[in-house]
Amino acid sequence: MHSNTFPSYDEPGFGRPPSLLFNVVYCSRAAAGVDATAVDQIIATSRRNNARLDITGMLVFGEGIFFQWLEGPRESIMDLMERLRSDSRHSQIVMLSAVEESNERLFPQWDMELVEAEEIRVVLIDALEDDHQPSSMDALRAMLAELDARLGTPSSLKA
Ligand code: FAD
Repeated sequence: MHSNTFPSYDEPGFGRPPSLLFNVVYCSRAAAGVDATAVDQIIATSRRNNARLDITGMLVFGEGIFFQWLEGPRESIMDLMERLRSDSRHSQIVMLSAVEESNERLFPQWDMELVEAEEIRVVLIDALEDDHQPSSMDALRAMLAELDARLGTPSSLKA
């Protein structure tokens, strides 16, 4: 019996471009009293929700500042941004990047990974060393530059 693994022209979806991912990077200021326990709670909720919503990314917390990288379907990310804007555990959300053109996740295994402020440079440099789309590279550089400015660390990576 011959088995054909190639899509046939009349299959639904054949010839359509792969759906794009929406990628958002922002930073925000943690509310007074937000500590490691509160951040663990945020991570637990995020993992539960994000797996269901097909969202991946990472959350950085240090010196009272959050940075978050989110990637997933546009609708899911927009809904999450609405919830984030009304979450009293942080304020002063500043968007660093919002693009919809990538179909390649930078953090495909991470429903939402907590990255320590000291480790973030290694994670970002690792991601930058892989060959990603220019928009993703720009977003990574924007995050790194903002981290350097906010957390007061010398910028070792300007290129
Ligand atoms: P719920 O089941 O309603 O809440 C889960 C728990 O969180 C509750 O037990 C409650 O104690 C606590 N909680 C919820 N809201 C608040 C609040 N405003 N103040 C204090 N405690 C509260 N959610 C995601 O789904 N994905 C993410 O990637 C994500 N990232 C976040 C990043 C940051 C920096 C912050 C501050 C929040 C983030 N959240 C994220 C949480 C998000 O803002 C919503 O609270 C959450 O999505 C609501 O989901 P839920 O209804 O399932 O949670």
